[in-house]
Amino acid sequence: MRIILWLVLGVLVILALKKKARDMQSRTFQTPPEAEPSSSPSAAPGHAVRDAEDMVSCAHCQLYVPVSEAVLRGELHFCSAAHADLHTH
Ligand SMILES: [Zn+2]
Repeated sequence: MRIILWLVLGVLVILALKKKARDMQSRTFQTPPEAEPSSSPSAAPGHAVRDAEDMVSCAHCQLYVPVSEAVLRGELHFCSAAHADLHTH
């Protein structure tokens, strides 16, 4: 019966040592990822700005299109060159 107690104690010690080693490993692994999130906050606003691109409505069909994809004719924006041509005629 005493042997079992020693065995259990030995297993507990081995488990404790393994856990300690894993904690130390995870602690060393955790430090580099902690540095990464600091770069993402600066990247997130840039992405948000790209998502919040100016939308303009087509002067012909009022369809909203990103300003970068809109066709500009004079002061008016159009969803496509076809609608720009329709409006100029
Ligand atoms: Zn249109």
